[in-house]
Amino acid sequence: MDAANRIVPQVVIRNGRFAGVGGNLATRGLKVVDLKGRTVIPGIIDAHNHIVLVGNRPGWHTPLEHVFTIPEAIAALKARAATVPGGEFITTVGPISAMQFDERRLPNLTELDAVGRPVYVQAAQGGTRTNSEGKAWLEARGVMVGADGTIAGQAAGLALQTLRKQLLTPETRKRGAFDALQYYARLGITTHRDSGAFHSEEPATGIASENTYTMHDPFHALHREGRMPARLRIDFLHQDPPNATPPLPTLGPRLRNSFPRFGDEWLKTGGIGEFTGGGIDGLRAIASAGWRGEDHALNLAGVTTLITNREIVNKEIPIKDLRWVISHIPEFPRELADRAHAMGVGVLVGWGPLRTGMNVGPPYRMLFDHGIKVGFHSDGGDITVINPWLNFYTMITGRNLAGQSILGDQTLTREQTLRLATAANKWFIWEDDLGSIEAGNHADLAVLDRDYFTVPDEDIRRVRSVLTIVGGRIAHNDGVA
Ligand SMILES: [Zn+2]
Repeated sequence: MDAANRIVPQVVIRNGRFAGVGGNLATRGLKVVDLKGRTVIPGIIDAHNHIVLVGNRPGWHTPLEHVFTIPEAIAALKARAATVPGGEFITTVGPISAMQFDERRLPNLTELDAVGRPVYVQAAQGGTRTNSEGKAWLEARGVMVGADGTIAGQAAGLALQTLRKQLLTPETRKRGAFDALQYYARLGITTHRDSGAFHSEEPATGIASENTYTMHDPFHALHREGRMPARLRIDFLHQDPPNATPPLPTLGPRLRNSFPRFGDEWLKTGGIGEFTGGGIDGLRAIASAGWRGEDHALNLAGVTTLITNREIVNKEIPIKDLRWVISHIPEFPRELADRAHAMGVGVLVGWGPLRTGMNVGPPYRMLFDHGIKVGFHSDGGDITVINPWLNFYTMITGRNLAGQSILGDQTLTREQTLRLATAANKWFIWEDDLGSIEAGNHADLAVLDRDYFTVPDEDIRRVRSVLTIVGGRIAHNDGVA
């Protein structure tokens, strides 16, 4: 993923960075790892997801984005149970969906009973359910659970809130933060840019809500201990209403009292997003302060307004060098790409494997060929999946996880897709020394369990890393090194 897209047989890593990239490199005095011809890629950068929320889930949180049948899911939960004390909750909140399973449903109560621990599953798509032990625990605390383990409607919010109140401590959050980063390191992600949460002072009923002033604490704790298995970049989500009194009650203090792009190579602040808040005045304040701003778009009307507002602000305070971002953009005609590009605004795409319908976008091919800055984001953790390989599968095949064609002719090649999630994302995290295997860059890479470039389409979903290295440190190792 360098500018010439070279493929090389050997790299040398020294002091956390690539010291040599090519062939016949001197290895005297070095530990040599023979990868036996496996495919190595730059560490994947997810330029917008909700890993901080995933790291703050209650219970022994266990993402299940790498399994594709109910028996595989139960086996993964049983393996997890072997490390969890009896009677303690195993949870999967967000990173699981009915659509990923051949059965097109979530595990049921009987299947979850086989895990041998209380289990709580709240899926990005497919509902909320528990098993017999979990049902007894929740009902003892006033949460209604159906006979089949289904938790419907508002009861699901109450269940999540109850689990948060009872199970979250600074220690369990730190464990969850480590487990979340570690899980995605197994899937090849070495850098996450977190795009925030909805602020809630108290334990919330909503899957996307947390205390946005304290939710980073467990990651800071890991960082202080030198235990980060991946890099984290933090954006700040703000939702001030327009015309508030006083104006910009949370965004104003943020811009005045904190620092953008401040930290070290493992943990660093970024900009404002994925909501900027405060209407046009919010955008003006962000531009004046010299910060990056990002908003997401869900439809054509929404994204048109975002572009128009940025044009108004850009005339007063140029934003060209601030790397502003609009994410998701399911509908995004070329004319809007032209207007965004003219202001130096980039777009993040991905966010697709659970979508349904015809030509639901984003228009990957048009954007890739356009010249506008375009990068990859999963937006996963709450409403969709983070697993990059599920996202890549959709970008390459045009199919969602149920196998339905959703992208029309807007698919990318495997190489283009990987480029968006590696080298192209340098711009979006505002760092040039990540995202490609080049001498001088941070030594972040993933050794794949199969050759992503040649496996059958369906196998793209199953790719994982057998050795993930971040800054020269082994973050995940299946006995390869
Ligand atoms: Zn998001």
